[in-house]
Amino acid sequence: MSPAYPPFIWHNGAIKPWAEATVHVMAHALHYGSSVFEGIRCYDTPSGPAIFRLTDHMKRLRLSAKVYDIAMPYTVEQLKAASREVIRANGLRNAYLRPIAFRGLGGFGLGADCPTEVAVAAWEWGPYLGAGVLETGIDACVSSWQRPAPNTIPTGAKAGGNYLSGQLIAREARRLGFGEGIALTVDGLLSEGAGENLFLVLDGRLHTPPVRAGILPGITRDTLITLARSDGIEVIECGLPRETLYFADEVFLCGTAAEITPVRAVDGRPVGEGRPGPLTRRLQALFFGLFDGRSEDRWGWLEPA
Ligand code: PMP
Repeated sequence: MSPAYPPFIWHNGAIKPWAEATVHVMAHALHYGSSVFEGIRCYDTPSGPAIFRLTDHMKRLRLSAKVYDIAMPYTVEQLKAASREVIRANGLRNAYLRPIAFRGLGGFGLGADCPTEVAVAAWEWGPYLGAGVLETGIDACVSSWQRPAPNTIPTGAKAGGNYLSGQLIAREARRLGFGEGIALTVDGLLSEGAGENLFLVLDGRLHTPPVRAGILPGITRDTLITLARSDGIEVIECGLPRETLYFADEVFLCGTAAEITPVRAVDGRPVGEGRPGPLTRRLQALFFGLFDGRSEDRWGWLEPA
């Protein structure tokens, strides 16, 4: 069964019917992975739909394009306006937004001078790693695939090509019956999930792999570090060996799509009591509280849709 698509999408400067936002099969991005994209959530808050950290996401989109020298024809303000337009055109309140910029059709070969195409899609999307997982948690495994080494494919840019690594990790995990795979760096330290950042609770303190560990420095990761510190919880960014996953009292994955997904077991070993722990629950309350009004948005992260 094909999913129900929303009626409208923003493509190259205008809202158009979903079915009309097509690309040519010889588009550069299709052959060479030359796209950069974002994932953003819009939440239906007590003061109306709000797009979470929209400005930060659009800044990152432009920086990802800069890494690959993809000319970006729209400013952050124009990309933000496009996001609001597509939310409104589709009458959405709770939504996932997918801005993408890519090298389109413009000749042949790696160095072809291709015009940049830009689109922003939006649709309703529940918890990324499955219904109910925010409450129950998932069983994860350590992937047999490692993240790209520094100075190979830059993981700090959110580029389509990076998700070849993500697909290897995610599909292997699903094939083996796990909810998600956690990858190591080339030197064997913890990196991140296929499409999420990783946090561990050790001795009551939050630990997360540093930016140099082949991760995408996620906006949710930054949000949780900020929320935790403002709540008096210590956060340590440091290199973590694989066995800390088995030592940890709590483990969770986070990202725009995955939000805060507890991990109840890794490689068949229960994490702590084998269910979401108190610090994970505390952070979930602080995070989701931003959207239902239980926690104050002191940072201006909620941007009206
Ligand atoms: N790592 C990877 C590989 C991801 O794809 C994502 C999702 N964008 C994240 C981390 C989390 O990033 P964010 O919180 O900005 O969505």
